[in-house]
Amino acid sequence: MDIRKKMLTRPIHRWAKTALPSLSMTEAEALNAGEVWWEADLFSGNPDYSKLHAVKAPTLTAEEQAFLDGPCAQLCEMIDDWKINQQDADLPPEVWSFLRKNGFFGMIIHKKHGGLGFSAFAHSEVVRFISTRSVAAAVTVMVPNSLGPGELIHQFGTDAQKDYWLPRLADGTELPAFGLTSNEAGSDASAMVDEGVVETGMWNGEEVLGIRLNWAKRYITLSPVCTVLGLAFKLRDPQNHLGKGEEVGITCALVPTDLDGVETGRRHIPSTTMFMNGPTTGRDVFVPLDHIIGGPDYAGRGWMMLMSALAAGRGISLPSMGTAAIAMSAHTTGAYARIRQQFNLPIGKFGGVQIPMARMAVDSYVMDAARRLTCAGLDEGRALSVISAIMKAHATLRMREACNDAMDVHSGKAVIDGPSNYLLPLYRAVPIGITVEGANIVTRALIIFGQGSIRAHPHLLDEMQALAMEDDEESLDAFDKSFWAHVGHSVKTAGRAFIRAWSGSWVAPAPNGSAPVAHIYRELARWSASYALVADLCFLVFGGELKRREMISIRMGDILSEMYLMSAALKRWEDEGQQDADLPILEYAATRSFNTIRRLLNEVLENMPSAFARAVARLVTLPGGGTTGPSDELIAECANLIYEPSATRDRITGHLGAAGQRPGVAKLNEAYAAVVELDPVMRKLRKARQTPDDGLAAGTITDEERGKIAHMEKLVGEVTAVDDFTPEELARYYEGFKPEDASRIAAE
Ligand SMILES: Cc1cc2nc3c(=O)[nH]c(=O)nc-3n(C[C@H](O)[C@H](O)[C@H](O)COP(=O)(O)OP(=O)(O)OC[C@H]3O[C@@H](n4cnc5c(N)ncnc54)[C@H](O)[C@@H]3O)c2cc1C
Repeated sequence: MDIRKKMLTRPIHRWAKTALPSLSMTEAEALNAGEVWWEADLFSGNPDYSKLHAVKAPTLTAEEQAFLDGPCAQLCEMIDDWKINQQDADLPPEVWSFLRKNGFFGMIIHKKHGGLGFSAFAHSEVVRFISTRSVAAAVTVMVPNSLGPGELIHQFGTDAQKDYWLPRLADGTELPAFGLTSNEAGSDASAMVDEGVVETGMWNGEEVLGIRLNWAKRYITLSPVCTVLGLAFKLRDPQNHLGKGEEVGITCALVPTDLDGVETGRRHIPSTTMFMNGPTTGRDVFVPLDHIIGGPDYAGRGWMMLMSALAAGRGISLPSMGTAAIAMSAHTTGAYARIRQQFNLPIGKFGGVQIPMARMAVDSYVMDAARRLTCAGLDEGRALSVISAIMKAHATLRMREACNDAMDVHSGKAVIDGPSNYLLPLYRAVPIGITVEGANIVTRALIIFGQGSIRAHPHLLDEMQALAMEDDEESLDAFDKSFWAHVGHSVKTAGRAFIRAWSGSWVAPAPNGSAPVAHIYRELARWSASYALVADLCFLVFGGELKRREMISIRMGDILSEMYLMSAALKRWEDEGQQDADLPILEYAATRSFNTIRRLLNEVLENMPSAFARAVARLVTLPGGGTTGPSDELIAECANLIYEPSATRDRITGHLGAAGQRPGVAKLNEAYAAVVELDPVMRKLRKARQTPDDGLAAGTITDEERGKIAHMEKLVGEVTAVDDFTPEELARYYEGFKPEDASRIAAE
């Protein structure tokens, strides 16, 4: 045995066995289910930008584009979101059949099984488009294409399951729901008490081996109308028929909802967004063993299956809805701030209003950039478990911020509900996005850094696997290799972090040809090195305790997320041909992002119990003073990019302003176009200090111009107006409110 191993590695190995976090079975399965990608470069402390640039920008095939322009736009034309949410509590029957007929429920199902076989990007574009028109319709489309029977059968199903179920799911003959959550088990899904017991039972008149199921799930989307439930439950096999012992573990099975004992149909009201959602229960429901997804071999492997399926779905559904809401907030607020005047000025000219406008413009660009990059990664066939968690949490968090900002700027116009209010439906959907597919707090506390630190770190997983080996000598050998590689990595990282921080990022790398944003690349590489160093310090100082230090994990996860989002913004800028017009957005995004990283790193160090580690890390990573936000000039510039018609404004909102738009948005677009067109005419009048009528009389403007002004004023009046209702109309919406009560109260 060499001296290093004997004198140094062995005592460290002994200490590490007790200090480093051990992996539970469910954690190990979750880790194995995913893979790392660009976040591993950010974690390495030395991102290789050529890898980022080599990622192919996502594009749509002609067929996918035709689907967006055709069925998708048509669907949006058919939808009356107000009626769905406030009157019918459901999509109209013709929309349900349109969705089935056009394959909306089978976007992820391969063509050979009758599905559309769309790329992740096309799937995301469809969800994004529909989300701007109706969240209820978008969720209805989203769910069969996300974690659930379709995805699970694709990944794990037997051939017979694929042949039977996939074509039926693709054409909507079968409508799926996925039942995981129950009263006892929300975020901690593994705590479920829903149970299946392996035993014999009757199936199609024959006695067969199967599972007797009992469950009580809640919050299940599409459950009230589904024909097949993908059910997660704990499987017990008291007589060991499967040869896996008595406690087999979490298992996923397909349960037709017309079986005896299945109860579906009752509904929840999710934040007044009336997609189908409700509880489901099953009492002594019997299914044969071949209803286990993947067959009996996959009994007990449900947790791994769920984690694997989540890695794709979580990166598409909610991020697409979130980015749609941010883009809509930016698009409508930019236009509204232009047409709405107070104190004789459009409100978008006021600095106070420009602050939220700039934030929306930047988040719309950055989050959509991240959506595209993530779709590109998924379309390379990668199971991006950490990145999909980043996207789910941060797209919905920024959606909340953008919706709040848009509400603030629109003020009364956004508060008063009615068919012409285009913001409240999105605002109401925010908590849904925050909660589903892994509630945001737990996602940030346990998954992003928790999984990211182990998977994305160049050596940590190897070390943990070495420590978990049963044979002590084998374990020591493997640990010796990975531990010293880790030490070498840490020394290099410390050097990089020091030089990059103390040179003000100037010696950090930037790709050739990126001149206007080279300083952003450099600073990102600088923070990546500092982050890698502080992450190593966290492992050293907290050891296994780190798992319970959620406040530290949240900060470290947020830093990784900031770096991912900033990388995505740079990548988008490259992919879109290095647009000069978008540079203010990148500057703002970088300033804000790096300030956030600096603050968070500082807070992590502040909370480190070791004063020595704290002092050294501060000295290496955080020289210099405090932070400053984007300048007032930059804020105004970014706000202006969505206030004036601009290429950036079009890039930010893409086709969202086009076909099938909510009526209120279509009217807003018209008014905005009219206000912009008449700007030179209105300037003439302002200069001459004349009203339009005076201007006409004085010959400042022509008859035609006066006519256009009248039309513009009418449009603006219509947009700034809000809905109101007669007591009779209100009574239709609110049971218990009687029109005669209103008349009586008025008379009194
Ligand atoms: C509209 C809607 C649709 C849904 N659709 C489905 C569906 O189709 N199928 C399905 O199976 N489920 C579905 N769900 C369930 C959803 O996934 C759960 O609501 C979610 O997992 C959170 O569970 P919970 O609401 O019980 O919150 P809880 O688990 O009670 O959590 C409460 C809060 O505590 C936080 N928290 C919990 N544990 C920790 C921790 N260790 N560290 C830090 N924070 C923690 C959470 O982040 C959350 O903020 C849906 C929910 C809703 C509201």
